[in-house]
Amino acid sequence: MKKIILFCLVSLGALAQNKPKNIIFLVGDGMGVSQIYAGLTANKGHLNLEQFKVIGFHRNQASDNYVTDSAAGATAFATGKQTYNGAIGLDSLKQPSITILELAEQEGLSTGLISTCDITDATPASFIAHQLKRTMHEEIAKDFLHTDVDVVIGGGRKYFEIRQDKLNLLDTLRKKNYAVLGDITSMESIHQGKLINLYAVENPIKISEGRGDALLKSTQKAIELLSQNKKGFFTLIEGSQIDWGGHANDAPYAIAEMIDFDKSIGYVLEFARKNKETLVIVTADHETGGLALIGGDMRTGEVKAAFTTKGHTGQMIPVFAYGPGAENFSGIYHNYDLFTKMREALHLGQK
Ligand code: MG
Ligand code: ZN
Repeated sequence: MKKIILFCLVSLGALAQNKPKNIIFLVGDGMGVSQIYAGLTANKGHLNLEQFKVIGFHRNQASDNYVTDSAAGATAFATGKQTYNGAIGLDSLKQPSITILELAEQEGLSTGLISTCDITDATPASFIAHQLKRTMHEEIAKDFLHTDVDVVIGGGRKYFEIRQDKLNLLDTLRKKNYAVLGDITSMESIHQGKLINLYAVENPIKISEGRGDALLKSTQKAIELLSQNKKGFFTLIEGSQIDWGGHANDAPYAIAEMIDFDKSIGYVLEFARKNKETLVIVTADHETGGLALIGGDMRTGEVKAAFTTKGHTGQMIPVFAYGPGAENFSGIYHNYDLFTKMREALHLGQK
């Protein structure tokens, strides 16, 4: 009898160790292996991403296209469903599908959405909204009122307050006890409660135009606020503009955004290492630009880049995992399997 009890205690201990309380899901939009290695080269041979020991790959076709877009890609992560390009939180039959963020909310976890683009853009939108097309920014913004998301930081303020229907969604959010802000610095005084900080009217500017450490500060604030919930949290953090560097076939643009994203990865890893109950996942929705590295110099940081398309490509995308349960993210699987893996890690929808 004693032996059995001891065995049970040991198993429970092992289970507890492998069950994270929090998930921080980081998406570098358009970040293929070449973008990562270009960033590493430009950064003279170093990235925080190298600290991960568990690495996998995801296959990422859309239901209607070999090459996915960010909407179908993020909807796959968020809902576990393969869907059509342009879909926001809908399956291939255009039916709404519950997202990992909504499941986390329902079970009392805190949730966050952080980006360096319009917060209504495809990647963050797919975690909180259910709309036919990614271009329906005003409808997507309205879907933010249907959840109790705790921390929202990004651009696209106009979709909340300068709208065709004349509604001011920010006023509504204020009434729902959100601190509503419009710049990065004023966020410093917020230390608890719900926050929506839309720090740009449209998309935030590029790193090269002076965005500074907006993403790192957003990451730090989100973790500070979300980690106060004893039940845990789920947050998306997106390095949104690596993709736009790819679309523009502008290697310095993609590289600067890659290195900026990696700074937030470094901070998240530092938090997770101390916290011990946080699973960190870093991946991308797809690669952008068909980037090839045809030369470079680790010492000077020079990168010789060639692009093969102005669009996305269909290549497999790396997944980096750290923390309790990280081992379940090695191997090759589908982008929509990430939903199931994350849901199972947090035991969501199983109570
Ligand atoms: Mg995106
Ligand atoms: Zn794109």
